[in-house]
Amino acid sequence: MAWVITKLCRDCVDMSCVEVCPVDCIVQHKDEGANGAWPNQLYIDPDECINCGVCEPECPWEAIFEDEQVPEVFQEDIALNAKIVDTRDEFDVPEKPDKPIPSPEEIQANKEKWGYNA
Ligand code: SF4
Ligand code: SF4
Repeated sequence: MAWVITKLCRDCVDMSCVEVCPVDCIVQHKDEGANGAWPNQLYIDPDECINCGVCEPECPWEAIFEDEQVPEVFQEDIALNAKIVDTRDEFDVPEKPDKPIPSPEEIQANKEKWGYNA
């Protein structure tokens, strides 16, 4: 079991989650974009995640789910997060930039962009 960051994080990456993770297992690819292989979002290392859940309420974009609760539309993100284990040295813990908190309208629009109606 581990927690999963979904597509709702893509291009949002305010990194509020990074600051609260007690084991530093929320990471970003060192090469931003990585030739398209790694979309611009953060990932949770499932081997390091201790399932504490404190990251989830910190995410203003509501992008983080427990693996068993990941919505159908984001199921492939479970494997994408797990895939970072194979090339873990290409990822590290990012610094938090200053970004404004999104409005409820922006959060909803982001969900609709990815076909998620919750
Ligand atoms: S807080 Fe949410 S949107 Fe921000 S980087 Fe973490 S998972 Fe992505
Ligand atoms: S559930 Fe806990 S250990 Fe896992 S990514 Fe979130 S904050 Fe880190």
